[in-house]
Amino acid sequence: MGAWNPGNFSNDIALDYVSGIASMDDLKRPIDTVVSGLLDYIDADLACEALAAADLLAGMLGRPATDLPEKTQDLLSKFSEPSADMLTLARTAAARILEASELAELWKEEESQAWNDVIGDLIQRLDPNTAYKSQESEIPVEGGFICSVCEGIIPDSDMITVEIGFPNMPGITMGTYFHHSCLEANFKPPYFSSEGSVEDALKRQIERFLLSEDNNRKES
Ligand SMILES: [Zn+2]
Repeated sequence: MGAWNPGNFSNDIALDYVSGIASMDDLKRPIDTVVSGLLDYIDADLACEALAAADLLAGMLGRPATDLPEKTQDLLSKFSEPSADMLTLARTAAARILEASELAELWKEEESQAWNDVIGDLIQRLDPNTAYKSQESEIPVEGGFICSVCEGIIPDSDMITVEIGFPNMPGITMGTYFHHSCLEANFKPPYFSSEGSVEDALKRQIERFLLSEDNNRKES
């Protein structure tokens, strides 16, 4: 690979691939190939293409990567917004690549955490139900966190953060954020153990809540 930076558009394979995209099928192809389960091994070129494709989908949701090439803006505006199924496939592809692929092995030898963070951020940006937090604003700016229940902005003093897992994606977590009152109105206590850690029962409740929100969205 010519360029060596953790961003999904910061390598030559991804850029070559992006410059050749003409249709939604071109976006689907590498994602489908990764998710198909037909491959024994996901090589680095395929992984770079699938991650670039997934990150373009995030761009279509209005959640672009910081290194999204400017010329892709025109391209993205030609496509309709990706379906919920397509986004699920893209999240699964990214999680598989993170879990076991040639690219993951290559990054293990380098500054793996930076790359892991890029992929974790991508998975979060691909989920319309998660609060969108750009890579550049790790430290919440004013109004940085959105309540998972009411979608209102949470003042720091009123914020409860709960890390939950993705169903079927072991090892990957995401932060969910709540107003105190929204948490109490929607979920049963106990919320925290005496040591202050989040109760597993609360995490399960939140996962079910997010899942049912997801289903409502599909039905509407
Ligand atoms: Zn709220």
